[in-house]
Amino acid sequence: MNYISTRGGAAPVGFLQALLAGLAPDGGLYVPQVWPRISPDEIAEYAGRPYAAVAADIFGRFVGDEIAPADLQSLCADAYADFDHPAVTPLVQTASGEFLLELFHGPTLAFKDVAMQILARLYEYALAPRSRTLTIVCATSGDTGGAAVEAFKGRANVRIVALFPEGRISEVQRRFMTTGAAANARAVAIGGDFDDCQAIVKALFSDAAFCREIDLSGVNSINIARIIAQCVYYFTAAVAVGAPDRTVQFAVPTGNFGDAFAGYVARRMGLPVDKITIATNSNDIIARALQTGTYQRGAATATQSPAMDIQVASNFERLYFECAGRDAAVTAAAFESFAESGVIDIPHNILAGMRDIFTGVAVSEAQTSATMALVWRETGEMMDPHTAVGVAGGRTARSPGCTPLIILSTAHAAKFPEAVLQATGVAATPPPSVVNRMSLPEHYDRLPADIEAVKTYLRAFAGQIE
Ligand SMILES: *Cc1c(COP(=O)(O)O)cnc(C)c1O
Repeated sequence: MNYISTRGGAAPVGFLQALLAGLAPDGGLYVPQVWPRISPDEIAEYAGRPYAAVAADIFGRFVGDEIAPADLQSLCADAYADFDHPAVTPLVQTASGEFLLELFHGPTLAFKDVAMQILARLYEYALAPRSRTLTIVCATSGDTGGAAVEAFKGRANVRIVALFPEGRISEVQRRFMTTGAAANARAVAIGGDFDDCQAIVKALFSDAAFCREIDLSGVNSINIARIIAQCVYYFTAAVAVGAPDRTVQFAVPTGNFGDAFAGYVARRMGLPVDKITIATNSNDIIARALQTGTYQRGAATATQSPAMDIQVASNFERLYFECAGRDAAVTAAAFESFAESGVIDIPHNILAGMRDIFTGVAVSEAQTSATMALVWRETGEMMDPHTAVGVAGGRTARSPGCTPLIILSTAHAAKFPEAVLQATGVAATPPPSVVNRMSLPEHYDRLPADIEAVKTYLRAFAGQIE
């Protein structure tokens, strides 16, 4: 299986190279040359199989002959062994025909663990034959950094640096990044918002000489392996409620559009997904784009769901490419001009393709709190604010009839205790892992939102950890 760039200006590469590169060298995002198809009979066979086995089967369709099936099975088994629920991503019913898909049973209590745990093992596998050490830099709106530090710490042939927007993430989020002491891991507070952090990472990647100098690699949701890892739970959840004999719909709390795009991929692979609701907080660029046809950057505002305080949804480029009939020239023109102007007027045919599956709903802060309170009263389920955005959006856009609605629950309530307490009047009970984390000393550095300062820092770190 080869991977091509959404901008058409990069040579096709194999899975492991796409994995290690993150972003394509022409600034585009890697997508497989063709989306693999899974037949209804094969989907039916997923019923009752362990999560790791389904993950290995789905990855197997994307890796070509670069990883032997037995190796893939053991990498997946290892990645999901420490999740604190035997189903890895269990479903919980919240209303008639409505389910929460709990994606927060990994080590840092957010859905980022599901992809990052397998990604780190794939990196180690890919790098084992080499003698060089790679530097992974990721921008985080809160949860990616912790998941990445946790997954990559202590692993051979990699260093990991997480850039987070100072003061814009929860204390629990920060502590997952700053208390996992390991020689090969660093957390850096950037004086700016998430979009500044993401812009710095993009600028680093567009500097070819610097990329070579410190052997830079990216694990943000632009990394195609994360998207593949996230497809898996769409399949296991849909099968658990009756797919492939029954159609399902999903609602996804959305920031960078990686998780929601994985749902699109699952559908392209043959899963009977009837619709996906993209639920945003007041940083609603994606919801507005779907409603109005204009994709326009604004200023990010801080909300109680900080992992979604994002104005530029990187993975949107992948959807654009697909809905433009995989026309790389059209996609490159749109996103190169977006980098300058901050706006794309989505042509009708492309917008129609997006609306065929996605509905966008922006959820206010008041609605988010009210939803946390309502679900707590009705069911005793405690939700984090990101999940509440998903529930509110999913309920608003739900199609009539009896198609089950599965809402992605992206974080544990205890990761955002202030918001949960304020909405429900009850403190979320933290799992033991969080309690321990809260008392460990924190280690992190501070830098201005300045590309040169970050380069100097990375050079020094690369020099320390050869
Ligand atoms: C990252 C994150 C999201 C948004 O996911 P995207 O793939 O960026 O759309 C939602 N909720 C939580 C808790 C997150 O950490």
